[in-house]
Amino acid sequence: MSGIAIKRNDFVVVTAGKEKGKKGKVLRVLRDKDRVIVEKVNFIKRHQKPSSGQKQGGIIEREGTLHLSNVMLFCEKCGKGVRIRRQRLEDGHVVRLCAGCGESFD
Ligand SMILES: [Zn+2]
Repeated sequence: MSGIAIKRNDFVVVTAGKEKGKKGKVLRVLRDKDRVIVEKVNFIKRHQKPSSGQKQGGIIEREGTLHLSNVMLFCEKCGKGVRIRRQRLEDGHVVRLCAGCGESFD
């Protein structure tokens, strides 16, 4: 898998599933599961048990995970989700470029 394709704080668009078309910032990348959590996308309801801090439990909504294959980096210039091209710089760093317009994401 292209493990470093998407990183925390990247801006992505959902390309499949019920959240298709939604955009947001990547909050977390779960590399071992190939999943990401995107801000304000894919809300799921969770039951919260009463804890010492709160007298009663309840239902909270929070972001669920999305599979990496269902999100793409969003390119502002192209105005859509794009494929990534990698380029190794002279200093050895590898940057991610938009395969469409060449804009750098790093
Ligand atoms: Zn682009």
